[in-house]
Amino acid sequence: THFGYKTVEADKKASLVADVFHSVAAKYDVMNDLMSMGIHRLWKRQTIASSGVRKGHKILDLAGGTGDLTAKFSQITGETGQVVLGDINDSMLKVGREKLRNLGLVGNIEYVQMNAEALPFPDNTFDIITIAFGLRNVTDKDKALASMYRVLKPGGRLLVLEFSKPSSEALAKVYDFYSFNILPTMGKVIANDSESYQYLAESIRMHPDQDTLKGMMENVGFEQTSYQNLTGGIVALHRGFKF
Ligand code: SAM
Repeated sequence: THFGYKTVEADKKASLVADVFHSVAAKYDVMNDLMSMGIHRLWKRQTIASSGVRKGHKILDLAGGTGDLTAKFSQITGETGQVVLGDINDSMLKVGREKLRNLGLVGNIEYVQMNAEALPFPDNTFDIITIAFGLRNVTDKDKALASMYRVLKPGGRLLVLEFSKPSSEALAKVYDFYSFNILPTMGKVIANDSESYQYLAESIRMHPDQDTLKGMMENVGFEQTSYQNLTGGIVALHRGFKF
């Protein structure tokens, strides 16, 4: 049946994503710095700046991987707050926990394995949810967004940092060449894993563009949605509120 077919496809995607992140976990941070030429740090800084984080906030860093955002949040939210680093992949969680412990960040961080499509929290739990370079890996994005909406507190906000659509043709061409030629080659040479980086390029091309994602957020209930293009739209930071 059509339904059966879809389920098989979805399972395939989920296990492909799992394989990719098990195999890149150990080298994830180094590759991130190399492939983005360090620019991912600026994108993440912008995410923190737009988050409205304050002391005492309860935050979910979803698909948090090796915990770059969690680290920054945990320093701001302090002892009275809490950051949950949630990820579906235990290899990524392990690398993240190790890294943050080595940075001396303990006490207000929890590491929880979870699927973004079915968040294991009661309604109205978090002040802020971030998902950085994670949504494009999720099989059912609408379901995941609805789940995020549910666990946000009224007044809370969601930030989605994700690859998006470059705003000029010229930039799109350069970027396409970079992601389909240079990136898999770097993946092969540095991490001996061109397939994972090929997947990465494909998942970026498939991801909904700025206005589509904004509409998807609105469809599950988010209000005052907006986005900010970063690096010419290669990346976009979407924001939405639950009231
Ligand atoms: N947020 C981190 C960052 O910006 O560096 C990590 C991003 S990494 C590219 C994507 C992460 O999404 C991986 O750690 C992967 O395991 C996680 N992921 C993929 N599918 C997921 C899902 N359905 N639920 C939760 N996490 C997921």
